[in-house]
Amino acid sequence: MSVYLDYNASAPIDERVLEVMIDVYKNAIGNADSRTHNFGENARKIVENAREQIASLLNVDKGEVFFTSGSTESNNIAIQGLKEYALKTGKTHIITTTIEHKSVLETAKYMQRNGFTVDFVPPEPSGRVNEQALFDKIQKDTLLVSVMHANNETGIIQPVKEIGDFLAGKDILFHIDATQTCGKLVPEIKGLKYNMLSLSAHKLSGPQGVGALILRKKRYKLPPVKQIIFGGQQERGIRPGTIPVALVAGLGKACQLAENEYQENIQNCREIKKDILGLLNKSKLKIEVNGEPNFCMPNTLNISIKGIESEALMLSTKDFCGISNGSACSSSDYKPSYVLSSMKLDNDRISQAVRLSWGGKSDKEKILEDLTLLIKRAEDLVF
Ligand code: PMP
Repeated sequence: MSVYLDYNASAPIDERVLEVMIDVYKNAIGNADSRTHNFGENARKIVENAREQIASLLNVDKGEVFFTSGSTESNNIAIQGLKEYALKTGKTHIITTTIEHKSVLETAKYMQRNGFTVDFVPPEPSGRVNEQALFDKIQKDTLLVSVMHANNETGIIQPVKEIGDFLAGKDILFHIDATQTCGKLVPEIKGLKYNMLSLSAHKLSGPQGVGALILRKKRYKLPPVKQIIFGGQQERGIRPGTIPVALVAGLGKACQLAENEYQENIQNCREIKKDILGLLNKSKLKIEVNGEPNFCMPNTLNISIKGIESEALMLSTKDFCGISNGSACSSSDYKPSYVLSSMKLDNDRISQAVRLSWGGKSDKEKILEDLTLLIKRAEDLVF
């Protein structure tokens, strides 16, 4: 495969992250929670250094960073972890959106089956949820609002700033799934108000299988989440299980690189998008961009090509191009995208939708070269 355009599914690991991880695997044996020898202490130092790197990227306190296996787990803890508190307070209403990742949607449905009420707010055709429509759902017993920062399929940035500002000071918890924006919208995330935030290392050129849940303190107190799996006291009991030191070190390094390089990364992403759109517009293909471009992440483009089923295009370009038509988590059971369906796009447009996503270090020339070939294959399919 020569060109990879599926960064929203998983971004390739940065060489510098890999170097840090190899060094840890080779030279830092031990369990970060072992207290009886220097090996444990050394592993602990590596873990705490990574925690500081994440805290710095997000402008939070290092005591607010909890390591997990990734955003799926972070999202589960943020939602399911509130069960005890909900039972105690009688606050059992959750508001989320219809375009969340499955790890939020399925968890919200699980809560629904267990006595909670959940409102799923749909987006507008722009792909963005209207914050007022969401505020209108607030009830006396609303426990939690959970909204993603940017959607993984469309790249559309959601009004989490407005929601956070509105909820601040109210007795409602706010969780943001920032999987697609962490390390990319760096100053934006620093300026958000929230109680909980999820991230996954592999979306910011770190390793797969590690992430974090950020729990913001309010008057020195963490949000009332409890562990959802039981075991030791690691991560202060919120996430039991041996800390994967090398993975955590990789996540920390990826955060450090993102903090230092996000401006040049975003600039490269913007230029790539401009040039991809230029190429598509020059072609004979009829393209519709899904989601309002003004709200879109610079690294994502979701387009429908008139007359070509996305499955046909992906199969005919599989040998040289890695693109997708949505979330990898839903790809084994092919169904029309629930995200695009919620935006009320027509069925043809949905079945013709493909997602291209790239990263700050992607090679623009290579992408354009391979995209020229993709356009040619697509033109052969239509004309
Ligand atoms: N949320 C969003 C928005 C995502 O894009 C993803 C990954 N596709 C996840 C959560 C889950 O992340 P992970 O698979 O790393 O647990």
